[in-house]
Amino acid sequence: MELPFSESYRIKMVETIRKSTLEERQKWIKDAKYNLFLLKSEQVFIDLLTDSGTGAMSDKQWSEMMLGDESYAGASSYYKMKEAIFNITGFDRFLPTHQGRAAENVLFSVLVKEGNLVPGNSHFDTTKGHIEFRKAFAVDCTIEEAFDTSCTHPFKGNVDPEKLEDVLKKSADKVPFIIVTLTNNSAGGQPVSMENLRMVRQIADRYRKIVIFDAARFAENAYFIKLREEKYKGVPIRTIVLEMFSYADVMTMSSKKDAIVNIGGFIGMRDEELFRQCSVFNIMFEGYLTYGGLAGRDMNAIAQGLYEGTDFEYLDTRVKQVEYLGNRLMKFGIPVQQPIGGHAVFVDAKRFLPDLKKEEFQAQTLAIQIYLEAGVRGVEIGALMADRDPVTRENRFPKLEFLRLAIPRRVYTNNHMDVVAIALKNVFDRRKEVTRGMKIIREASIMRHFTVELDLA
Ligand SMILES: *Cc1c(COP(=O)(O)O)cnc(C)c1O
Repeated sequence: MELPFSESYRIKMVETIRKSTLEERQKWIKDAKYNLFLLKSEQVFIDLLTDSGTGAMSDKQWSEMMLGDESYAGASSYYKMKEAIFNITGFDRFLPTHQGRAAENVLFSVLVKEGNLVPGNSHFDTTKGHIEFRKAFAVDCTIEEAFDTSCTHPFKGNVDPEKLEDVLKKSADKVPFIIVTLTNNSAGGQPVSMENLRMVRQIADRYRKIVIFDAARFAENAYFIKLREEKYKGVPIRTIVLEMFSYADVMTMSSKKDAIVNIGGFIGMRDEELFRQCSVFNIMFEGYLTYGGLAGRDMNAIAQGLYEGTDFEYLDTRVKQVEYLGNRLMKFGIPVQQPIGGHAVFVDAKRFLPDLKKEEFQAQTLAIQIYLEAGVRGVEIGALMADRDPVTRENRFPKLEFLRLAIPRRVYTNNHMDVVAIALKNVFDRRKEVTRGMKIIREASIMRHFTVELDLA
């Protein structure tokens, strides 16, 4: 018999998690204003809010923590991180930042001006926030297939070349750069093909534009290229990663994703002049050039994590666990974004709760239901997260309303995935009873989903 699939690691340390009763959860979610971000973590049994900073570090990463050099300037930890970034991505210049959005803040302080247009593939919420905060506009150029959850296109993160050309033809002078998100978080953790990255580079070259990769999940993207792009079947992950980054001028990275650490980020680049300009803002916002908001021990753990995160066996374990949960849900007939993404399963809330009005926040309603069912915390990727239009102040209703179940790296077992799948099935079986959605009581003007207060509609 063929041996079954299993994890490429064993467990050396454990953390207790506790179940709760329905009555407790009903009280807690009401007290949290029906916003799952406002729950205490101990009120959650299985936490799939995010895969960001929630991964389990390895024994080698913890050893690196002990070796951290906490010198203010010129720490060996900085050079260790620099070497790892160069080896893995090919970028020879880098600035450490405390996380991904800080990298965006520093870089966009140099590059984004009022009235600019920034084309890309479904910009991540903090990326869009940092663009709109500077009175510029994010233009979504993702391929149409990404918006049909039942379409099984292998690279739904791809940039549509016609949409991109259209923006550049009409207003090239307003475009400071093109940004490609790997993998495409907002459209379902969907990868971008190597062919597409090459094409974006060619278009950018024609218009002399900078290409930036928002590369939080570049390793998962490389894994999908290896599996799904014929030419790359026999190519090692690290070789694929190097080719991917050869098509970019700059990268921003949230190390809390594919570098499997709890905090950290960086900007990688080649251009000396851009490095100098970014350095000014890095010192102002983050810290001196050789630590940028990170402790030496964090930089050591990131360096080690970059190697572990690009290991094929690790990636295989990781992505297959996400797929396992997705397949269980599909067997129950639950509508999910297909193919299953790299870091999360995206449940199509519009098809799950078709009788609920979009004005009553279908995905948020579903997120609350699964929390009540089993103490499982997911997150809404829909109208709440989409914020209001910065000009008209009307609610924006995106084409997709998702409940995202993000799987932390190396944390939960497939038994936990079974609990999540059955919990969702139970809600699915009683979905006709879910007739009331949510309404907003209080909201912030930007990135409102983190702090919004809700009540039953
Ligand atoms: C998480 C993430 C960011 C922001 O990074 P933080 O570390 O959370 O600040 C940016 N882009 C993408 C695609 C992300 O997933």
